[in-house]
Amino acid sequence: MTGTMCGDVTEPAELVPGLVERVNGRGPYALVGSRCPDCGATVFPSVVRCPYCQGQPLRQGVGAAGSLYTYTVVRTRAPFGLPEPYAVGYVDLDGSGLRVFGLIDPAMADELTVGQRVEVGLMRLGVDGQGRPCLRPVFRSEHPTASEVGR
Ligand SMILES: [Zn+2]
Repeated sequence: MTGTMCGDVTEPAELVPGLVERVNGRGPYALVGSRCPDCGATVFPSVVRCPYCQGQPLRQGVGAAGSLYTYTVVRTRAPFGLPEPYAVGYVDLDGSGLRVFGLIDPAMADELTVGQRVEVGLMRLGVDGQGRPCLRPVFRSEHPTASEVGR
Protein backbone atom coordinates (compact mmCIF):
# COMPACT_ATOMS: atom_id res chain seq x y z
CA MET A 1 0.00 0.00 0.00
CA THR A 2 1.07 3.55 -0.58
CA GLY A 3 0.63 6.53 1.65
CA THR A 4 -2.08 7.93 -0.59
CA MET A 5 -5.83 7.62 -0.33
CA CYS A 6 -6.10 5.92 -3.72
CA GLY A 7 -4.97 2.63 -5.15
CA ASP A 8 -5.82 -1.04 -5.05
CA VAL A 9 -9.01 -1.08 -3.00
CA THR A 10 -9.17 -4.01 -0.63
CA GLU A 11 -8.88 -2.83 2.96
CA PRO A 12 -10.04 0.73 3.70
CA ALA A 13 -7.90 1.19 6.81
CA GLU A 14 -4.72 0.59 4.78
CA LEU A 15 -5.66 3.14 2.14
CA VAL A 16 -5.77 6.15 4.39
CA PRO A 17 -2.94 5.57 6.85
CA GLY A 18 -2.77 8.36 9.34
CA LEU A 19 -5.81 10.16 8.01
CA VAL A 20 -8.84 8.08 8.98
CA GLU A 21 -9.08 5.20 11.41
CA ARG A 22 -11.83 3.31 13.16
CA VAL A 23 -12.30 4.29 16.79
CA ASN A 24 -10.91 1.46 18.94
CA GLY A 25 -10.29 -0.54 15.74
CA ARG A 26 -13.99 -1.37 15.24
CA GLY A 27 -16.02 1.73 15.96
CA PRO A 28 -17.02 4.60 13.70
CA TYR A 29 -14.46 6.23 11.42
CA ALA A 30 -12.62 9.20 12.88
CA LEU A 31 -10.21 11.73 11.42
CA VAL A 32 -6.73 11.34 12.89
CA GLY A 33 -4.73 14.41 13.80
CA SER A 34 -2.28 15.41 16.48
CA ARG A 35 -2.45 16.99 19.93
CA CYS A 36 0.55 18.75 21.40
CA PRO A 37 1.15 17.90 25.08
CA ASP A 38 3.27 21.04 25.51
CA CYS A 39 0.91 23.79 24.30
CA GLY A 40 -2.37 21.88 23.94
CA ALA A 41 -2.84 22.62 20.21
CA THR A 42 -4.89 20.14 18.20
CA VAL A 43 -4.31 19.95 14.44
CA PHE A 44 -5.51 17.95 11.45
CA PRO A 45 -4.00 16.15 9.63
CA SER A 46 -1.39 14.73 11.98
CA VAL A 47 2.03 16.39 12.07
CA VAL A 48 5.50 15.44 13.26
CA ARG A 49 6.15 18.84 14.90
CA CYS A 50 3.65 21.17 16.54
CA PRO A 51 3.16 24.17 14.21
CA TYR A 52 2.82 26.47 17.24
CA CYS A 53 5.64 25.47 19.63
CA GLN A 54 7.68 22.85 17.70
CA GLY A 55 6.83 20.28 20.39
CA GLN A 56 6.30 16.60 19.59
CA PRO A 57 2.56 16.03 19.24
CA LEU A 58 0.78 12.74 19.82
CA ARG A 59 -1.41 11.15 17.12
CA GLN A 60 -5.02 10.94 18.17
CA GLY A 61 -8.55 10.89 16.81
CA VAL A 62 -9.85 14.43 16.40
CA GLY A 63 -13.45 13.71 15.51
CA ALA A 64 -15.87 11.11 14.19
CA ALA A 65 -18.83 13.48 13.77
CA GLY A 66 -19.76 17.12 13.78
CA SER A 67 -21.95 19.86 12.40
CA LEU A 68 -21.87 21.24 8.87
CA TYR A 69 -20.57 24.84 9.20
CA THR A 70 -20.97 25.67 5.50
CA TYR A 71 -20.91 23.93 2.13
CA THR A 72 -21.09 24.38 -1.60
CA VAL A 73 -22.44 22.13 -4.33
CA VAL A 74 -20.15 22.01 -7.36
CA ARG A 75 -22.06 21.65 -10.62
CA THR A 76 -19.22 22.16 -13.09
CA ARG A 77 -17.33 19.26 -14.68
CA ALA A 78 -15.98 17.25 -11.76
CA PRO A 79 -12.28 16.36 -11.48
CA PHE A 80 -10.95 12.85 -10.75
CA GLY A 81 -14.13 11.10 -11.82
CA LEU A 82 -16.16 12.56 -8.97
CA PRO A 83 -19.91 12.42 -9.56
CA GLU A 84 -21.74 15.51 -10.81
CA PRO A 85 -22.77 17.37 -8.81
CA TYR A 86 -20.52 16.85 -5.81
CA ALA A 87 -20.35 18.79 -2.57
CA VAL A 88 -17.61 20.05 -0.28
CA GLY A 89 -17.83 21.83 3.02
CA TYR A 90 -16.43 22.76 6.39
CA VAL A 91 -17.43 20.67 9.41
CA ASP A 92 -17.02 21.67 13.06
CA LEU A 93 -15.86 18.44 14.69
CA ASP A 94 -17.28 17.42 18.04
CA GLY A 95 -14.81 17.51 20.90
CA SER A 96 -11.63 18.81 19.25
CA GLY A 97 -12.98 22.21 18.20
CA LEU A 98 -11.42 21.81 14.75
CA ARG A 99 -13.16 23.04 11.59
CA VAL A 100 -12.08 20.80 8.71
CA PHE A 101 -12.72 20.92 4.96
CA GLY A 102 -13.71 17.87 2.98
CA LEU A 103 -15.91 16.08 0.50
CA ILE A 104 -19.52 15.42 1.41
CA ASP A 105 -21.42 12.30 0.34
CA PRO A 106 -22.65 13.22 -3.18
CA ALA A 107 -26.01 11.59 -2.44
CA MET A 108 -26.63 14.44 0.02
CA ALA A 109 -25.71 17.26 -2.42
CA ASP A 110 -29.28 18.50 -2.95
CA GLU A 111 -30.44 18.21 0.66
CA LEU A 112 -27.67 19.88 2.66
CA THR A 113 -28.39 22.44 5.37
CA VAL A 114 -26.04 24.49 7.51
CA GLY A 115 -25.81 22.99 10.99
CA GLN A 116 -26.87 19.48 10.02
CA ARG A 117 -25.17 16.56 11.71
CA VAL A 118 -22.63 14.55 9.72
CA GLU A 119 -20.14 11.79 10.47
CA VAL A 120 -16.84 10.68 8.96
CA GLY A 121 -17.11 7.84 6.46
CA LEU A 122 -15.20 6.24 3.61
CA MET A 123 -16.66 5.90 0.12
CA ARG A 124 -15.48 4.55 -3.21
CA LEU A 125 -15.53 7.83 -5.06
CA GLY A 126 -13.85 8.82 -8.31
CA VAL A 127 -10.42 7.75 -9.53
CA ASP A 128 -6.78 8.65 -8.96
CA GLY A 129 -4.33 10.04 -11.52
CA GLN A 130 -3.95 6.56 -13.07
CA GLY A 131 -7.69 5.96 -13.36
CA ARG A 132 -7.86 3.53 -10.42
CA PRO A 133 -10.88 3.68 -8.09
CA CYS A 134 -10.38 5.70 -4.94
CA LEU A 135 -11.52 5.23 -1.41
CA ARG A 136 -11.99 8.72 0.01
CA PRO A 137 -12.95 10.14 3.38
CA VAL A 138 -16.29 11.95 3.21
CA PHE A 139 -18.75 13.56 5.55
CA ARG A 140 -22.05 11.76 5.33
CA SER A 141 -25.40 11.68 7.03
CA GLU A 142 -25.21 10.09 10.46
CA HIS A 143 -27.37 7.36 8.94
CA PRO A 144 -25.24 5.38 6.41
CA THR A 145 -26.29 5.42 2.76
CA ALA A 146 -26.49 2.55 0.29
CA SER A 147 -23.27 3.78 -1.34
CA GLU A 148 -21.31 3.26 1.86
CA VAL A 149 -18.29 0.97 1.59
CA GLY A 150 -19.22 -2.65 2.05
CA ARG A 151 -22.92 -2.25 1.25
ZN1 LIG B 1 2.62 22.82 20.73
